[in-house]
Amino acid sequence: MKKIFILFFVLLGVSSAFSQEKKICITFDDLIYSSRYFRDPDFQFDRSLNLLGTLMSYRVPAIGFVNESKLYNGNRIVTKKVNLLEMWLMNGFELGNHTYSHKDYNTTPLSDFIEDITKGEKYIKPFCEKYNKPLKYFRHPYLHRGDSKEKVEELESSLKEAGYIEAPVTIDNAEWIFAAAYDSLLYAKETKTLEKIKSDYIKYMEAKLTYYESQSEKLFGRNISHILLLHANTLNCDTINELLEMLRRHHYKFVSMEEALKDEVFQSEDTYYKKAGISWIHRWAVTKGVNKDFFGDEPECPAYVLNLAKVDYE
Ligand SMILES: [Zn+2]
Repeated sequence: MKKIFILFFVLLGVSSAFSQEKKICITFDDLIYSSRYFRDPDFQFDRSLNLLGTLMSYRVPAIGFVNESKLYNGNRIVTKKVNLLEMWLMNGFELGNHTYSHKDYNTTPLSDFIEDITKGEKYIKPFCEKYNKPLKYFRHPYLHRGDSKEKVEELESSLKEAGYIEAPVTIDNAEWIFAAAYDSLLYAKETKTLEKIKSDYIKYMEAKLTYYESQSEKLFGRNISHILLLHANTLNCDTINELLEMLRRHHYKFVSMEEALKDEVFQSEDTYYKKAGISWIHRWAVTKGVNKDFFGDEPECPAYVLNLAKVDYE
């Protein structure tokens, strides 16, 4: 009898472990490729092959958000870049719209912003249809949803009307600063510091992951389905293996945007109407009126990385 009870509790434990499975959707912004230094289409294509190949070997149903302006060199369309875009779909990944030219909604009138979204569909819409993954997700550049209630609501209804679903971010981070620093080192062939920055990057992302897990626990009493923001850049092409291994060590299952959005948390009220683009967890936290202390202890980008990146960072 005792043995039966033990078995029962063991099985109960196993089933609850499954029901609390950690889920994460991996998203890449600024496709085709984001780099100040490496603009050669062949370089971007070859580097991206590594990124996509590794994502496939880990069975990651990733989604890439596109700025179609990056397909052009002046007024001329660059075939290799169009091929790179198609390669994402060809290998089973999804694409979403990130506006044509990465416009900032904080400083752009609604009509111009909507025009930029429509302009950004020229290639991705027919491509998505060709690969049977209809274009439906929109990611706000800089995560700017609008800096007033009116602006937020206007954009929300325009996106809905155009058939778009907003793609939130729960794990926001300064990965793009690491990437800028990494590119400048790679360009200058500073190989020794490159290795350091790669390993510091993974440690930083791990710290961000556990930070947002604990923010989620504090706010909702559980670890929600996460959506991680990354960019299509050289740093991620070169470290994707280590990054995915780290997420695996934390017992994450890689899921699609559709699967992540099934978490009811994404229906939470959001009345954050300020300029800064922040994690949705923090939007919900502001909405709930949490104390300022709630936001403390967020991992920061190391000073040497900021110096190397030479970017403006608030
Ligand atoms: Zn972006």
